[in-house]
Amino acid sequence: MRKVAWVTTAENPPVRIRPEIAATQPYRQGRQAAPDAFKLSSNESPFAPHPAVTAAIAEATINRYPDASAQALRDVLAARHGVSSDMVHVGAGSVSILSQLIQAVAGPGDEVIYSWRSFEAYPGLVTVAGANSVQVPSLTDHRHDLPAMAAAVTERTRAIIVCSPNNPTGTIVTEDEFTAFMAEVPRSVLVMFDEAYIEFAGPDAARGPALLAEHPNLVVLKTFSKAYGLAGLRIGYGLGAPYILDAARATAIPLSVTEQGQRAALAALAHEDDYRQQLDEIIARREQITDALIAQGWKVPRSHGNFVWLPTGDFTTAAAELFMERGIVARALGEGIRISIGEAESVDTLLKAAAEVVAKLPSAAQ
Ligand SMILES: *Cc1c(COP(=O)(O)O)cnc(C)c1O
Repeated sequence: MRKVAWVTTAENPPVRIRPEIAATQPYRQGRQAAPDAFKLSSNESPFAPHPAVTAAIAEATINRYPDASAQALRDVLAARHGVSSDMVHVGAGSVSILSQLIQAVAGPGDEVIYSWRSFEAYPGLVTVAGANSVQVPSLTDHRHDLPAMAAAVTERTRAIIVCSPNNPTGTIVTEDEFTAFMAEVPRSVLVMFDEAYIEFAGPDAARGPALLAEHPNLVVLKTFSKAYGLAGLRIGYGLGAPYILDAARATAIPLSVTEQGQRAALAALAHEDDYRQQLDEIIARREQITDALIAQGWKVPRSHGNFVWLPTGDFTTAAAELFMERGIVARALGEGIRISIGEAESVDTLLKAAAEVVAKLPSAAQ
């Protein structure tokens, strides 16, 4: 068969792509690891799936469409969080719900506020909706500057994203901080509380579901990708007012949550206690790694996620390359490097590589 090549000429001009989309990078995944390297670039769980999850997936129907409403899962999640099931919306990962909500509230000329640096997916989701990002610089200790975020609200603000624990810096928002922030935000502005890593957080971190009763403009976003190790099955959920979730559903691509994902989430919830040990192991390893990095001279913020943040500044690319050469695939993000907490075997390799980075690029750790 003849190969088709795309050539644009005067007679065959390129199709018109929205300029803001043409200027946007497609989502770039954490780099794939060489066979002997540790892939610590996407905050994935290093554990094998729970046997109940594996069994549940095997039972899924494949030739039929899934239950678009994910009713069984929503009922379980509603009971778990003490809300009605119409306050639960399930999506193909919580990123897809973020996308749906932004599309539902913000269009051309509208503004979406979030802290920066935060989750690398936020800017693209806002751009795709046609809206403008308002990035509020984080404090020097990497926490959200919530008073500045509230002060950034204008007539055009349609949504604010609060990420706690924050990806990639690991900092949290406390309940008092959040309550004070919400008192300054008009109730007509949607606030999304992204707590993808809440299961790894200490007791000081605000818990989104407990805040719902007080704040009618709040949607809490949660995922099975991190603590439950179901990243590959694409399943997450939002909690909030039914009319807001209906608006999200209206923008959703129907039927993108698979039966496998729904069954796996139900199985994981049914065996929730079995995940406690995994979480404790990751948290203990994160503390061990953080202590060791600080002892090496790194200025690492205390993380509440399953990752740590190395503020490497201008040395980020060079430092990430060195980690790569030493078998650690990390995520370089602008002015720092995010390293996921992985399997026990990765710790020595990681700390040796980090020590070498400090020795070769001492300024990277300042
Ligand atoms: C991983 C992550 C999510 C959820 O991802 P999904 O796999 O789409 O559920 C949401 N927010 C943040 C900040 C994340 O890091």
